[in-house]
Amino acid sequence: MVRLQAMDRGRLSRRELIGAGAALAGGIAVAPALAGCSDGDSGGAASRGRVVVVGGGLAGLTAGYELGRKGFDVQLVEARDRLGGRVHTVRSFTSDQHGEAGAEAIDTKHREILRLCRRFGLPLENAYSGYGNRRGTVYRRGRNFLPREFATPAVKAEMERFWRAVDRLAEPLDGTDPTANGGARQDRHSVADLLDRLRIGGRARWLLEARIESDYGSPVARLSLLYLTLSERLYWNQPAGGIERWRIKGGNSTLVDELTRRLVTPPMLQAPVTAIRWDGAAVEVDTDDGETLTGDKLVVAAPTAALRQIEFSPALPRREAGFIAAIDLCAVAKTLIQYERRIWRRQGRTGGSTTDLPIGQTWETTDQQDGAPGILIAYTAGRRGEVTATIDDRQRTIQAREDIDVVFPGTRRLAGDSFSVAWRAEPYSGGCWAVFRPGQVSKHWLGLHEPTGPIHWAGEHTERLNGYMNSAVASGMRVAGEIAG
Ligand SMILES: Cc1cc2nc3c(=O)[nH]c(=O)nc-3n(C[C@H](O)[C@H](O)[C@H](O)COP(=O)(O)OP(=O)(O)OC[C@H]3O[C@@H](n4cnc5c(N)ncnc54)[C@H](O)[C@@H]3O)c2cc1C
Repeated sequence: MVRLQAMDRGRLSRRELIGAGAALAGGIAVAPALAGCSDGDSGGAASRGRVVVVGGGLAGLTAGYELGRKGFDVQLVEARDRLGGRVHTVRSFTSDQHGEAGAEAIDTKHREILRLCRRFGLPLENAYSGYGNRRGTVYRRGRNFLPREFATPAVKAEMERFWRAVDRLAEPLDGTDPTANGGARQDRHSVADLLDRLRIGGRARWLLEARIESDYGSPVARLSLLYLTLSERLYWNQPAGGIERWRIKGGNSTLVDELTRRLVTPPMLQAPVTAIRWDGAAVEVDTDDGETLTGDKLVVAAPTAALRQIEFSPALPRREAGFIAAIDLCAVAKTLIQYERRIWRRQGRTGGSTTDLPIGQTWETTDQQDGAPGILIAYTAGRRGEVTATIDDRQRTIQAREDIDVVFPGTRRLAGDSFSVAWRAEPYSGGCWAVFRPGQVSKHWLGLHEPTGPIHWAGEHTERLNGYMNSAVASGMRVAGEIAG
């Protein structure tokens, strides 16, 4: 999940929407305290059982790695020709630059993924310290504003009024039973209902909607109010300065590579699973090229949209089947464009913007990378994300180039290599992260969390605090624990 760090808010909210993008400072190395220590492999002892893992994103890879360390014989099966799923560092740019087409930032509260980075000796970049005097941009109704011009004290006060109301609703919630303490009532409403009830309009409404659409990927009218307040509750102790604090230096796919390197049995790629047969004691898994794998246990670590394409026999119980059928992933597209020079810097800008154009937002993702060129990312979420998922990557890139030139004049003629992906249109993802509509938290919360016979559910969508790389890693660790006992 991309959460925008509020410029006007002390606590939660996850990327500086107006202040524009994560500033990566200095390439600070996370102390590789555990690097080089034993990975705890089973040292040739007899296998504790055979586990098939479906899906090679961070959840499946973490599960495979942890189970291998605990002495299980693991076969991971991945539909695509690459591992990582929604983590995808694009390295095809000139000057050795790279950018994230999927997940980008890590919060200081994301303990499990940070622990893995430490264990593998992966350095992190501090995303917070370094735009100097440069500023982000708000572009609305044909005009560029500085953030402080746009968000006047009166606008900020209105936004703060909204967040105070969210805090009041979040405070009594129980993270283990979200429908208790008034949660069920909140779930009957959307976030738009709360904005309406508070009569928040004008610029404050526009900024809040833009921010929430970015953070949660979903239009406010289709986002459960309880899902928002619960996420805030679960994030209660995260200091503002820790949100989107880190990126993995060299790209998040380096973590994917490290996990892959440690799998005992090489993963099967380009092997979409089409059918799963299970009973109390064992599983059989068919891939689309006619191969059948057998196991004592199964880890299913594919997102809901992809699971709808797999035939389970016997059919899954109501709770699990209901979750898979109902819970969609939000629509976000990312378009990365490399520019010959970073001329937005000469204009005193960070490259970050919040706009009312089809692109949505932008930020520079190369601010800690060497070289004259720079990559801007157009991040298109919510309603605009749904629209842009219906056009092809080339058209989307042309549109992004044009829109960016409107916000940062002169960029068009400097545009070079690019990469665009609308995750909603990706068949093995179906979107960016699971989101709950009004009524869905009450009905489907943690619907894929407990094991179903020999099937163990992993993936960001199976965790209490979902939507993050950390959710995926934590779920992989959880299922490894469930299986190993
Ligand atoms: C644009 C975008 C921005 C994001 N930003 C952030 C961020 O800044 N910070 C953050 O922490 N998180 C962010 N996220 C969320 C994060 O990427 C995900 O929560 C996390 O990577 C999910 O991992 P996963 O292993 O659960 O699922 P996935 O990564 O989706 O892995 C599932 C795997 O299953 C495979 N699969 C599907 N169907 C089958 C099948 N039938 N057979 C075999 N394999 C199959 C898929 O190909 C895929 O490799 C972002 C996501 C997106 C898309």
